Amino acid sequence: MIEVCPGIYQITMPTSFAVGDVHAYLLRGEPLTLVDTGLHYPPSQRALAAGLAEAGVAPSDLEQIVVTHSHLDHMGQARWLQEASGATVLAHPIACAKVANLPAFVNDAIAWAGGLMAAVGLPEDQHTVVNTFYGIIPQMAQNVTVERCLDEGDVLEAGGRRWQVHFYPGHAGDLIALWQPEECLLLGNDHLLAKISSNALLEPPRPGAPDRRRPLIEYWHSLDRLDALPAATILPGHGPIIDDHHSLLAERRERRDHRLDRIASLVAEAPRTAWQIAEVLFPRLHRSDYFLGISEVVGHLDMLIAGGRVREWADEQPLLYGAKR
Ligand SMILES: [Zn+2]
Repeated sequence: MIEVCPGIYQITMPTSFAVGDVHAYLLRGEPLTLVDTGLHYPPSQRALAAGLAEAGVAPSDLEQIVVTHSHLDHMGQARWLQEASGATVLAHPIACAKVANLPAFVNDAIAWAGGLMAAVGLPEDQHTVVNTFYGIIPQMAQNVTVERCLDEGDVLEAGGRRWQVHFYPGHAGDLIALWQPEECLLLGNDHLLAKISSNALLEPPRPGAPDRRRPLIEYWHSLDRLDALPAATILPGHGPIIDDHHSLLAERRERRDHRLDRIASLVAEAPRTAWQIAEVLFPRLHRSDYFLGISEVVGHLDMLIAGGRVREWADEQPLLYGAKR
């Protein structure tokens, strides 16, 4: 546990994922608030209880629990903490239905992702990667009832500070960050990380939406909004604290443009499926990362199509992409 700003304690918990440790933030003051919770996983539970104890807080003392987005390493232990404390759980409206019934989300997501894998051209004998990818969810997180929704423009009193809620869809379609304007302080979770570029994961369509989201396009729109924010300190969900997000974003933008050019030239050589592009870009991709690699390629193809550089043959199965002339 480290006091990273006056009254704000960073508590670091292990995960069983490649991303490594995850941070939660205890905001001391009225009302006593925890932002994010770690995985529902015994080593994570021990680390969180120890971090809170070091700050002189018991899980039962918590009054509010903010879930910044519906990923397991952020929402996994919310139910345990809610039951221990009776604290109010807060999250974006899009997260509410998902976290209330994770097995139902998993069923729908697997059915949707099976169709997606066929469309991107992943060989059929590999389609079970989506079962593995989503199947872990109910093991590492418990259903939780969100009692208050937080959306763009809302103001949240937490830990003796007033925070503005920013809705930053991209890395997750339900991601919110908390902005403290007087101190130029952002609780940014996974929106921007110093050491890894957050994957803009493909997700099932939003309820009532006919089509899938375009997560990388949404993500860059949200990152451009972050770039306009005069943040002095960004407290992240993983890795080191960010104190110069403008240079970090400039680097990320350069890398994105390089990848866009690479994909545009690959499909200009010959029409390809998204999976064929992923095989060229990530030749040593482990099976457990296929979904991440495919998300990366499809996200960039979405941007290239929106920018008028690439076309999609939508009547082909799998979908084929080529240069737009
Ligand atoms: Zn995340």
